[in-house]
Amino acid sequence: MPDVNPAPTTAAAELDAIIVGAGFSGLYQLLCLRDRLGMKATVLEAGAGVGGTWYWNRYPGARCDSESHSYNYTFSKELFEAWEWSERYPQQPEILRYLNHVADRFDLRRDIRLNTAVVAARFDAATNRWLVTTAGGETLTAQFLITAVGCLSTANVPNIPGLEGFAGAWYHTGQWPHEGVDFAGKRVGLVGTGSTGIQAAPVIAETAAHLTVFQRTANYSVPAHNAPLSAEFKQWVKANHAEIRRVMQSTPNGHPFVIADRSVWDVTPAEREALYEAAWAKGGLQFRATFRDLLVDKAANDTAAEFLKAKIRQIVQDPATAAKLADIDHPYAAKRPPIDDDYFATFNRPNVTLVDVRAAPIQRISPAGIVTAAGEVPLDIIVFATGFDAMTGPLLRLGIEGEGGRKLADAWAAGPRNTLGVQVAGFPNLFTVTGPGSPSVLCNMPVAIEQHVEWITACIARMRAKGLTRVETTEAAMDAWVAQVNAAASATLLPQAQHSWYLGANVPGKPRVFMPYAGGMAHFRRICDEVAAKDYEGFAFSA
Ligand code: NAP
Repeated sequence: MPDVNPAPTTAAAELDAIIVGAGFSGLYQLLCLRDRLGMKATVLEAGAGVGGTWYWNRYPGARCDSESHSYNYTFSKELFEAWEWSERYPQQPEILRYLNHVADRFDLRRDIRLNTAVVAARFDAATNRWLVTTAGGETLTAQFLITAVGCLSTANVPNIPGLEGFAGAWYHTGQWPHEGVDFAGKRVGLVGTGSTGIQAAPVIAETAAHLTVFQRTANYSVPAHNAPLSAEFKQWVKANHAEIRRVMQSTPNGHPFVIADRSVWDVTPAEREALYEAAWAKGGLQFRATFRDLLVDKAANDTAAEFLKAKIRQIVQDPATAAKLADIDHPYAAKRPPIDDDYFATFNRPNVTLVDVRAAPIQRISPAGIVTAAGEVPLDIIVFATGFDAMTGPLLRLGIEGEGGRKLADAWAAGPRNTLGVQVAGFPNLFTVTGPGSPSVLCNMPVAIEQHVEWITACIARMRAKGLTRVETTEAAMDAWVAQVNAAASATLLPQAQHSWYLGANVPGKPRVFMPYAGGMAHFRRICDEVAAKDYEGFAFSA
């Protein structure tokens, strides 16, 4: 796939819109503004290729947990029918091929500037334009600035003393070397047991001499049961574009499955067990769709949690290791629930050890390995699967300054505040695709992205039709939306996971605010449509 794009077709000075990021969001936003509204738009992308998350996250086992036929755009029936996924869950290289296919199919590359990181963006009130500075020192201006930087793109490497003196090699999964890493004959330490660590561990264990997994918070996981897709299924997908899209747009989490209408308490314990067994056998994220009340009723959730902990104890042969893995402190799915290919069984391998760093915390990294309160673990390679400065991190690192030079970092010092996840008062003509306050990470991402991009596009189209040049949400609308985001989170068990990145708890010093909108994607879509139907209530426009 080409990593070199043609020279941009639009001179920088004439831009209507600058889009930051060439992942799922940025590609579609470019298509909408350029091809549907006829605007002069450019994408600035830090990477040397398109793909966003899937350009950077190349770690062993990297795969999406959304089922492949749902992990794509649905705006184009022709595109949907033309692309064929090979497996139930798409692997990173295949997703990257898909996004490159999209870039080529819609001739997007000519308006994407690769290797162009944004380091500052300042709103100029005199001209109602954004001045965007790149790492190369160039300044571009545009009426609109649209961030399409993803929610999980700022790697969180823990600040552990001694890392710089480590004699071996270390990597963060979100910044994986393109040439890959050879684990053969190496003693590998894997820090982190979130979705990434749980995907990577079984693959690393296959070739490493020894793998030590450093677990701080034990985690649930449900088998993915990945497999090649049959010819019949591929045919069914092609024939059912409209129905698949309809289902995904009607569900709270944007997946192509419907959450069961029954309560945990509608069935007998034996029936419940049978339903959980069937969901376990089916595998994947839809385990949490077995009952409607798993995420709102702690006692209901406990039944799923106990089932999953019992599975860990059955799979893992060493009782002490099983006990550590099953010692989970939060409700099931209150943190993003991982799915796996043989994660727990990996601990039955003779070359895999679990170290509980909740009991014996990591103290430092020595030249020879990781030192915990229980002693030193000698290592050749450390893999940090330690997650991201999620949702706000990718936005704050852009150095955004709104009206009067107000920094976004200051506006969000106590946590993110915006309207519909999309606009911040004091930052006119700035739109944030899947910003905090949107369902984004609680949803199958392409579904959330299409909605956000289309809403932004419609808002800009309305401005152009009416000759308006400036849009800015109001403080009152922002207050109301923040209250709705908080209320939606409080109605669920999600805030009960104290170590969750949804709360910013994984980054030292980050304000503890529940960031995504937990009221469900379908409900969010209705709210956004109502706002638009009321002539963008909560947004002020001027010429
Ligand atoms: P994560 O969920 O934030 O997990 C990070 C892990 O690192 C946690 O186990 C965390 O422990 C641990 N950790 C962090 N700092 C540590 C430290 N200083 N010492 C010891 N342990 C430390 O990150 P992730 O696994 O990369 O996943 C992030 C999100 O990316 C997922 O939730 C998901 O939304 C997305 N993702 C999706 C897929 C997919 O679709 N297949 C795959 C991977 C990721 P604590 O829990 O104690 O903080």
